[in-house]
Amino acid sequence: MIKQFGSAALNFLFPSKCILCSAFINPENNRYDIFKKPVSDSKNLVNIFEKTIKPYVCKDCIKELKPVRSPICPVCGEMFQGMADEDHLCKRCIKTDRNFTKARAGGIYTGILKSLIHKLKYAEKITAAKPLSVFLFYSYLKFFNGKEFDYITPLPLHIKKAKKRGFNQSYFLVKYWGKTAKNFKIKIPQIRLNIIKKQKNTPQQAGLSANKRKKNIKNSFTVKNAKEVCGKSFLIIDDVVTTGATIDECAKVLKKAGARKVEALSLARSIVL
Ligand SMILES: [Zn+2]
Ligand SMILES: [Zn+2]
Repeated sequence: MIKQFGSAALNFLFPSKCILCSAFINPENNRYDIFKKPVSDSKNLVNIFEKTIKPYVCKDCIKELKPVRSPICPVCGEMFQGMADEDHLCKRCIKTDRNFTKARAGGIYTGILKSLIHKLKYAEKITAAKPLSVFLFYSYLKFFNGKEFDYITPLPLHIKKAKKRGFNQSYFLVKYWGKTAKNFKIKIPQIRLNIIKKQKNTPQQAGLSANKRKKNIKNSFTVKNAKEVCGKSFLIIDDVVTTGATIDECAKVLKKAGARKVEALSLARSIVL
């Protein structure tokens, strides 16, 4: 019976079916707990990604993550097509001052990362959230120094959208971070929900042009309690960043309420054409 219970617990931790195609995964290959100890070479996100998703995805579905590589815009993190240049401001960040100082992403929104994010948002949220959450944690360690922030705050959803979906995917991404940080013996800023509220239920940003995205999201956030925000620094967590319009709107209300600094981290970065 103990054996049976043990195997059920292991199946919960390490499902025996691929979360993308449902093919059987040989569990013996993959049973090590990605939440327990840090992977060595922790700055190589391609390597980390593969290690973190291996217990959840079969070998046919495992395809390499496409990393965001230089040259990028040092502010919004947009990746440029050409590879020869050095990092430089993108046209959006030249034209307008951003309310955030730095936004980074774990990988490019394509291939397997895109499929997993889709799973996270529209289907098996818990299983997909685990490997993505750990991957995002490593991205956080790579791009940010934990001491920089007072709070980590997931991007809020409008109450109607949250009710319809049943959860906030950005919150699911950081929900396990406290535990992961403890296992890794790392201190992280406090994770705070409900700092910002999405007051306007806006149509989806996907499929809209850069200008329409900006208009669509304008004035859709509000700070719940300015006293909690004044003088503090924030790291906003989002699943996918495209033009940065959403995080900029979020950063705008935080800055208006007196925030000292706002930066952002997402799982994936869309390529803006
Ligand atoms: Zn598969
Ligand atoms: Zn930029």
